Amino acid sequence: MPASKSSKRNLSSSSSNDGVNKNKIFVSPNRFASLSEDADPHPEVFSPPPVTVSPQAEDTSSHTYMEPPPTTKPHIPPFCVSDGYDFSTLKNSLLKVLDPSSIYFKNTLKYLIIHPRSISAYNAISEYLSNNKQIKFHSYLPKPLRPYSVFIRHLHPSTSVEDIEANITDKGHEVIQVTNILHRINKRALPLFRVDLKLADNNSDIFDIDSLCHTKIKIERPKIKLSPPQCKDCQAYFHTSNYCHHSPRCVKCGDNHPSAICTKPPSSPAKCALCAGPHTASYKGCPVYKNIIQSRKKSKSAINRKLPTPTNPTPSSKNRPVFPNSIHNNRSYANVTANTPPEDSYSISINKFIEEFKTIINPLIILLTSVLNRLQPVTVSVP
Ligand SMILES: [Zn+2]
Ligand SMILES: [Zn+2]
Ligand SMILES: [Zn+2]
Repeated sequence: MPASKSSKRNLSSSSSNDGVNKNKIFVSPNRFASLSEDADPHPEVFSPPPVTVSPQAEDTSSHTYMEPPPTTKPHIPPFCVSDGYDFSTLKNSLLKVLDPSSIYFKNTLKYLIIHPRSISAYNAISEYLSNNKQIKFHSYLPKPLRPYSVFIRHLHPSTSVEDIEANITDKGHEVIQVTNILHRINKRALPLFRVDLKLADNNSDIFDIDSLCHTKIKIERPKIKLSPPQCKDCQAYFHTSNYCHHSPRCVKCGDNHPSAICTKPPSSPAKCALCAGPHTASYKGCPVYKNIIQSRKKSKSAINRKLPTPTNPTPSSKNRPVFPNSIHNNRSYANVTANTPPEDSYSISINKFIEEFKTIINPLIILLTSVLNRLQPVTVSVP
């Protein structure tokens, strides 16, 4: 098993020496009561235990979640448990350490879903599940931890990410990371960079920048993708490997082992981990994938029936997908856009609709005003 893979499978909250600890801990404001907004707590300072982020640890996913001011109700992600648990034991153990009102359960065909109602409940559940390694589950990145991400076009691919970061920082933004985007297939560096900013009130001001490093540039929001994220560990859709504690399933042969150690010869046919069909689990022709896209299209067109399609989306301060801090490595576009959360598309659609509505209604108001102004002298001149 390759080192990176084995470290990713390390679920213990206490074994964090490799910096690839999947135990996600939120830290309540009590712990950092002295950290005011201007104290500027680093979003990726992990606790407990404190973990140093390795610059190469792409899947590092421990996070300290600084609870927002009380007026903001944080979205606290659920835990989806699939296997390796007895419900009564799990429930009783959690209720022993948690206020019963801070947690509730829900069952679907696939998962036992545990919803924490508070950050401390999230921490306790995360710790319990991570310490019981036989329990298979996944969770999601809390929205307040997702940075504000944009894409910069037209910069030369060889431009140093440090230069880009410095230039953007000079303009009053706090940069988490800059990533050069690679061509999805031939992996050539593209004149396209992703910039993740720390969430701030001035995030959308970044769209005012039209030149950087002596180059005329264009800044764009990430595109909303129809395709959901697919976990590279268990191959399931709608979550990423960063938050996955399920058993690994091979993308090539569908067996319960990490894809990297697959011994299937290229001559033998692939077997899909999702539908058992003769293709890889990442195949876009897989019926499971096609069903997801179909239902997403349906729900999207249902939204579009109510909301006109905008042509000129305006940036808002919505959270975007997050990546580990201080990593300046190259990644493919598909990779970096892969974990767009499904629920974002609704709020983005509404924002787009409002902007579109504004662009339609404003000229109409101007037109009506001018018509009214013209009518005034005409009615007066009639005897
Ligand atoms: Zn997974
Ligand atoms: Zn395999
Ligand atoms: Zn399939």
